[in-house]
Amino acid sequence: VPVFALIDGNNFYVSCERVFDPSLNRVPVIVLSNNDGCAVARSNEVKALGVKMGTPFFEFKHLVKPHNIQVFSSNYTLYGDMSRRLMNVIGQFTWRQEIYSVDESFADFSGLADVRAHALALQHQVRQWVGIPVCVGIGPSKTLAKLANHVAKKQLHPTAGEGVFDFGALSTDARDRLLSEIPVGEVWGIGHRHTASLANLGIATALQLKNADPATLRRRYSVVMERTIRELRGEACMDLEEVTPAKQQIMVSRSFGTLLTEFNEISEALAYYVTHAAEKLRRQASIASALLVFLHTNPFREDQAQRHVSVTVPLIQATDDTRVLFQAAQTGLRRLFRPGFHYHKAGVLLMDLRPSGSRQAVLFDGFDAQRGQRLMQKVDTVNRRVGRGGLRLAAEGIDKRWQLRAERKSRHFTTRWADLPVAYCWVYPC
Ligand SMILES: [Mg+2]
Repeated sequence: VPVFALIDGNNFYVSCERVFDPSLNRVPVIVLSNNDGCAVARSNEVKALGVKMGTPFFEFKHLVKPHNIQVFSSNYTLYGDMSRRLMNVIGQFTWRQEIYSVDESFADFSGLADVRAHALALQHQVRQWVGIPVCVGIGPSKTLAKLANHVAKKQLHPTAGEGVFDFGALSTDARDRLLSEIPVGEVWGIGHRHTASLANLGIATALQLKNADPATLRRRYSVVMERTIRELRGEACMDLEEVTPAKQQIMVSRSFGTLLTEFNEISEALAYYVTHAAEKLRRQASIASALLVFLHTNPFREDQAQRHVSVTVPLIQATDDTRVLFQAAQTGLRRLFRPGFHYHKAGVLLMDLRPSGSRQAVLFDGFDAQRGQRLMQKVDTVNRRVGRGGLRLAAEGIDKRWQLRAERKSRHFTTRWADLPVAYCWVYPC
């Protein structure tokens, strides 16, 4: 029987902030989305105050002072690096791992003599080496492992006390009793829409879904629904996906920190987005054959003239060279830009990606592609060492009015020398 585990960081972004500032423990902490828009991570204290995921900042601003809520801008450099560390530690506890999201990983726990002890050891190691709390859910299928994690996190069962819960340790009766207490919407892959339509069929709990007829529900929904039912019954229909498939498209898009009206300012922002997208492209060893640029005014400012446009720019030669991609993006922007609008957001989408080994040379092309490749490699090497943006296009500009609001960002504790935390140690003479 296969045994799957799902390891998930608790309130991950908040936990990352707490690692480097212990005074944040046991006080309410919120992390905001890009541009300080809305809540994307909440500590338990904040959840208890009733602030929901995705609530815009201005809607809970009045709670900040009276409850002493600590508010942070998102620090994705920090969270990304902490995620890498978390995944590394998990990888040492399994021979097969699927990284599912920034703070979630499936692991193969098959064949272990004591699954629970193994999970507790993993949890302890993560706490010690990375500093963040995780819950571990275990079950004979990925769907049950995911649900077990929910049980561990919400403490829905007496054995889940330490943040580890194993469906495999329960008798069939006990398992069914627990499933009957879990709303069907908590099951992996059952979204809001399905929850509503399943309710019409009299299916409101995980147990009712488990006991439903797979063939009927497959006809009504899809094979995915049938698979979910069988997985709830303890049959493993999905295996770990160890290799993340290379992305077919890469998009980088942001709202500006302030509304922009000038071509040059938008072009500077675009240079930054293209740089970011090209880095991702090279990291997965792909080249792009076309690029889409888009430009938007703020749809919520109904008092302002609206413009929402995009254009695709084909590339003569597929490339991963930031400079070539930026030239194409600028060509696109020139076609899209009209003066007299207040622009709010822009982005680039790299399309028609293929492995960089399949690069074709172009006859009579003035640009030396091989030299470009070597240059990009050097840029990536330097930036890996000194941090993103160490070497960048001058086209990004200096003022950066387009830059996101991130007024409450913590430091880059793990990726920038100057931001390393300092520990003081007092030694008292005897
Ligand atoms: Mg999480």
